[in-house]
Amino acid sequence: MSYTLPEFLAHAIAMEQEAADRYLELADMMEAHRNDAVQSVFRDMSRFSEMHRDSIRARAEGIELPKLRSWQYRWRTPPEVGGEEGFDYLLEPFHALKYARGNEVRSMKYYREVAKEAQDPDIKRLAAEFAEEEREHVLALDEWLAKTPRPSTTFAEDAESFEPV
Ligand code: ZN
Repeated sequence: MSYTLPEFLAHAIAMEQEAADRYLELADMMEAHRNDAVQSVFRDMSRFSEMHRDSIRARAEGIELPKLRSWQYRWRTPPEVGGEEGFDYLLEPFHALKYARGNEVRSMKYYREVAKEAQDPDIKRLAAEFAEEEREHVLALDEWLAKTPRPSTTFAEDAESFEPV
């Protein structure tokens, strides 16, 4: 896998936009659950993703970006999410944090992979920098997970939600 700069930038912008949107949804769910602490974590994460998206857009100015397919950047939901039970599932702060963590790990891995495979030194450097930012997001979520009670209901979870970084 070797990306061109426009492909890489398009991918990074789409991933940050996706993260900003999903975090906003999660924040609204936490609001419904009256969990103000976790709600504000998600609002902050959404804002960080928007800021990151804007800074990548600024770097991409004047570069024509390819259009991506949604599966290339969409967050993956746990198997439980889908029906009405899915909504209940993510209302639990613990599950919502794990869901976000799994997707942050996926973004981090994407950037690490690009940093490893890229031929272009600019892409290599940017991807390594972005991978580090994602790692920090995972660690921030881990701190919240440590403070969040684990719900009694157990669900099958995505391996990436647990993977240490
Ligand atoms: Zn992130």
